[in-house]
Amino acid sequence: MLAVALLLLQLASICAFVGVGGDGDRRRTTTFASRATSNNAEYDAANDVPAGQLEQLKKEEARLAALLASVRQEKLAVLRSRPLSIGVVGFGRFGQFIARSFAKYGNVFGSSRGDYADIASEMGAGYTPLSDLGEYIVTKDVDVLVLAVSIVSFEDTVKDLVPYLERRLETRGDLPLIVDVASVKEHPRNILLDNLPKECDVLCTHPMFGPDSAAAGWQGQTFVYERTRIDGVLVDDSQSAPRTSHGQNLTSDTSTFMDENGIMHDMHELTEAHVEGMDRISRFLSIWEEEGCQMVRMSCAEHDEYAANSQFITHLTGRILGAQGLKATPVDTMGFKNLLRLVETTNADSFDLFYGLYKLNSNSGYTIGRLRGALDDVVGELLQRDGIAPGVFDRR
Ligand code: NAP
Repeated sequence: MLAVALLLLQLASICAFVGVGGDGDRRRTTTFASRATSNNAEYDAANDVPAGQLEQLKKEEARLAALLASVRQEKLAVLRSRPLSIGVVGFGRFGQFIARSFAKYGNVFGSSRGDYADIASEMGAGYTPLSDLGEYIVTKDVDVLVLAVSIVSFEDTVKDLVPYLERRLETRGDLPLIVDVASVKEHPRNILLDNLPKECDVLCTHPMFGPDSAAAGWQGQTFVYERTRIDGVLVDDSQSAPRTSHGQNLTSDTSTFMDENGIMHDMHELTEAHVEGMDRISRFLSIWEEEGCQMVRMSCAEHDEYAANSQFITHLTGRILGAQGLKATPVDTMGFKNLLRLVETTNADSFDLFYGLYKLNSNSGYTIGRLRGALDDVVGELLQRDGIAPGVFDRR
């Protein structure tokens, strides 16, 4: 190989020296010569690798893996040493699903309109009817309140809680972290910021999975979050916020945020309330990390833009195909089986959820318009090819 490379290099030098061809040829020759030089250098570099380096690297890899495992163990111990008290408001399909995992890490209670006391007790959680939740919040230890009610009832639920949160602030001087898990993000974010006491820390999240897609566990499932407000200050968790050269969001240690007056701050500002607020958010996020979620920090606005063209279109397609009445046949292809599965999973979610995805994400209407346009385009292509007049596909 070395001999070939050297030969090519020599040939290239000779051609360059004698000035083969016109300008174009000369350019090609120069490029060829420099490529040959760089290949040669790479070859030399590869040959410079000292014997035994691979073994050394493997040992280093093993050492780091062991270190990572011990850090994770320590992290888990810290998490369990001061378990969070977590209330899940809205103990329906999704509320129960997340509460089950929370119960492994913290003291959990559910709250809903319906009576889910038995289900809560079976997973080791407490239960408070929604009508009693206000008094519970005023008097009991609650670190985190996760709002898992339907998107369409989110606003009323928050407004009902506000007087109790204010009373708690007056009487106890603290407030729980409020977390939303709705499948749209800007709508709940605005409601929380517009209605909650400004002292209330807010974390907006969307676990991009549910009881069907993650029935076997949360490993590898995407969890989107925006640390919306900490200690009265709005945080900039947009994708354009500072990141590492690997494209990862910077950790809380190094990121900056803007307050309501547009002033930038460093996350390291060491007010006690800020440090405590960050710690509580970290503890709560750690639960998702420990369960194996892929954590994606992203602003609510960015989430909604992406979700309209991914999650909403998935639900829309599943609902359309469901409305068409597709059924299994004796000759189903894998592709068709996947379509039937899509129909099944999207229709298993409540219509409230589907409606919320449409109504409360301002990008969803545009997605419907584009889908309609694309259907017309594709059908138009079919008709045009055979010179058939539109209307032939109208029969049901
Ligand atoms: P959903 O139909 O969106 O919500 C059902 C929940 O909302 C139940 O707990 C229900 O309480 C409560 N609720 C409905 N109307 C209410 C009202 N007027 N006042 C108070 N509570 C009311 O179904 P879901 O799948 O459980 O979703 C809950 C939330 O999680 C939604 O925000 C959804 O976007 C989000 N989410 C769902 C998934 C998923 O895969 N399903 C994934 C990620 C996020 P009762 O049962 O007591 O009536």
